[in-house]
Amino acid sequence: MIIVVLGGPGTGKGTRSKVLSEALSIPHISTGELLRKVAQTNPDVQEMLDNNELVSDDMISEHLYDRLFYEDCLGGFIIDGYPRTLNQAILLDNMLKKLDRQIDFVFELSVPDEIVIRRIVGRQECKSCGKIYGTAFPSKVENVCDDCGGELLTRSTDTREKTLERIVQHNENIGPIRSYYDSQRLLEIIDATTAPETIIEDLKHLSISKLICER
Ligand code: AMP
Repeated sequence: MIIVVLGGPGTGKGTRSKVLSEALSIPHISTGELLRKVAQTNPDVQEMLDNNELVSDDMISEHLYDRLFYEDCLGGFIIDGYPRTLNQAILLDNMLKKLDRQIDFVFELSVPDEIVIRRIVGRQECKSCGKIYGTAFPSKVENVCDDCGGELLTRSTDTREKTLERIVQHNENIGPIRSYYDSQRLLEIIDATTAPETIIEDLKHLSISKLICER
């Protein structure tokens, strides 16, 4: 099964994708994570991430395409953070066509802007395992991950000002992507103000209705 998870900053794409990944036993591919790895050895990319700038469609698409050849992708995968432009959506279709595969579902996570800001400002991420903490759900010991004991870091982009910039950027880009997937009847809008695990119920319901439609 191939699932694309769309959503602006702070809508919980990463958390919900991880829940789906565990439930379906398929990998979660985050283009943000792919780029954060690249940035460790590429200061230009690091600067773009620090400034909330999208890297070029060609660059991120190459990294994503390479990742799709890993053996763990054979049974399907969940893509989080891509496409962020209409051109990327078209590039993704071309990549999948080459692999003789196609998208099954596109989930767009919907969360009001004020909740997004509350979630992001003050957010911390574990340097080792990637677990996310927030002001409403902090770690038990300050700056230490409950699960693995790793150090908790705040991303330099998680300020109110930068979050607003990202929301505006996302809103500008998402319209054409939404129409693209909606016209292919792939798009499902998901209320992401609920607990992350509810996405499993959404998927069960959608899988059943998809089977009914295919008959
Ligand atoms: P994320 O973790 O998805 O919020 O991504 C972090 C940053 O990586 C974004 O603010 C962008 O600078 C960059 N990025 C992630 N995915 C993409 C993409 N599909 N296209 C361009 N830039 C991206």
